[in-house]
Amino acid sequence: MYRTHTCGQLRIDNAGQTVTLAGWVQKSRKLGGMTFIDLRDRYGITQLVVEADAPAELVEAATSLGREFVIQATGTVVERQSKNPKMPTGDIEIRLSSINILNKSVTPPFTIEDVSDGGEDIRAKFRYLDLRRGPLKEALMLRHKIAHETRNFLDAQGFMEIETPYLIKSTPEGARDFVVPSRMNPGQFYALPQSPQTFKQLLMVAGYDRYFQIVRCFRDEDLRADRQPEFTQIDCEMSFVEQEDVLGTFEGMMRTLFKNVLGVDIPSPLPRMSWFDAMDKYGSDKPDVRFGMTIHDITSVAKGKGFSVLDGAAYIGSIAVPGAASYTRKQIDELTEWVKRPQVGAKGLIYVRVGEDGSLKSSIDKFYTPDDLAVIVKAAEAAPGDLVLIMSGDNMRKVQNMLGVLRLEMGGRLGLRDPKVFAPLWIVDFPLLEWDDETQRFYAMHHPFTSPKPEHMDLFYSDKKEDLERVCANAYDFVLNGTELGGGSIRIHDAEVQKRMFEVLGIGPEEAESKFGFIIHAFQYGAPPHGGLAFGFDRVCALFGGSDSIRDYIAFPKNNQGRDVMIDSPSEIDQTQLDELCIKTDVN
Ligand code: ASP
Repeated sequence: MYRTHTCGQLRIDNAGQTVTLAGWVQKSRKLGGMTFIDLRDRYGITQLVVEADAPAELVEAATSLGREFVIQATGTVVERQSKNPKMPTGDIEIRLSSINILNKSVTPPFTIEDVSDGGEDIRAKFRYLDLRRGPLKEALMLRHKIAHETRNFLDAQGFMEIETPYLIKSTPEGARDFVVPSRMNPGQFYALPQSPQTFKQLLMVAGYDRYFQIVRCFRDEDLRADRQPEFTQIDCEMSFVEQEDVLGTFEGMMRTLFKNVLGVDIPSPLPRMSWFDAMDKYGSDKPDVRFGMTIHDITSVAKGKGFSVLDGAAYIGSIAVPGAASYTRKQIDELTEWVKRPQVGAKGLIYVRVGEDGSLKSSIDKFYTPDDLAVIVKAAEAAPGDLVLIMSGDNMRKVQNMLGVLRLEMGGRLGLRDPKVFAPLWIVDFPLLEWDDETQRFYAMHHPFTSPKPEHMDLFYSDKKEDLERVCANAYDFVLNGTELGGGSIRIHDAEVQKRMFEVLGIGPEEAESKFGFIIHAFQYGAPPHGGLAFGFDRVCALFGGSDSIRDYIAFPKNNQGRDVMIDSPSEIDQTQLDELCIKTDVN
């Protein structure tokens, strides 16, 4: 037997017992002839001590230990002289009678402690060492707990976990596919699933009623902190449901996760906001509603005073930043530079300071009388002490989006975005289609299997672009603290409606047949009404853990260039493999 206890297990009640522990030497130090060793495993750290008067070979063994040696140590649990209240095992130590070195370690490239001296790149290269550190261990434990609670909840609700294939044909979710060449079918390729969307719908046609899967998905997109080329979804689908049924079920799931994992109660029912309100008031389809500072349309009151920038704008919007009237000129100049950065893309920023005494001072005093400004301030719903920030432009959604970005920045600066505060909500009533000026065609806002709202069916069959733009979808997103955690829709289950959808998207009958024939055919054999959604599992984990970055919650993530620097992938493959696959590369 290698051990009687783990390194996180022993307490003062165990005093007097003879125990054997096994683990990694985090560090060892000598103090007045005694050797202290911190022994670590997944469960915690226990202090071991070799007394100055211990047998010589024991003292020698203790002295020979290096960082990350794997040892087995036997001794007696004793109460510590100087206790460490920060460690669960901090009341005791093990007075050793023997040490058995199970394996040596070369000196690790960085210290494996909660706060490491290693930079990000070196830790990524030695991820298996980084994973020994407390914060990453906690992140993966949280991930495990959320997965476990998810499975328990869905199982209790009658959902079956069913695996779907990874080697498939392209599923259109709006990103590029990763492809895999087929050796047995030269010149042909599988695609890795962007999601199991079509398969889960086929499972509904097959009568499985309630499906879920915690499943890997692949999207070949440009990467950001909250994106990975492979990521995990909690993917779900239900039959004989309307939007209310889906929202009710998954509100229940999220409520259970919040309660059982974090001990947090979220509101019941959850707030809902239409997509249009989210865009108008927050400049985003994933609003952070932990704080107000919403966007106001001040177009009608801010125009017509001879200031050409505003007079020529199609839309003028504002936010009122509480308590920021006292901003200095320098602070406002800095903010103006900030909004001009390409990430925001504004041309400039107009401000009105609302003094505590109600006095008004603005960057447009030349054109606007105090009375004019008072009307603007009222429309902006600003209070004494606020700083009103104004932006304008030709495109309403673009300006709202920039104001939304500024709003988030100001919320952050004012400390209103506490990661321990959770403000979940549903966004509903999405447009079904999005027009793209560049390609002069419609795209599905969610995906092409999303159904139009029944009351918008007439518009959906109209040939007019304006009508099609007005069609709303039975689609919904679950949003938490400014992040889209999940989304889904009630699906089209009628082959004719699905055909019309492809037509609207400019996918001709032949292309539809070759790409999606299987699902159109399946719909002819009794497809039940169905709908579902998927949650971004990595994002759920990160937000529950209070972090922005999903990378910490994935055991072996990729970096910003989509590389796994530990195994050095992607990499070239040898000529024989290429020949077998009938592939010629053309890389210069
Ligand atoms: N397949 C969708 C997605 O990955 C989710 C859904 O509609 O269920 O976003």
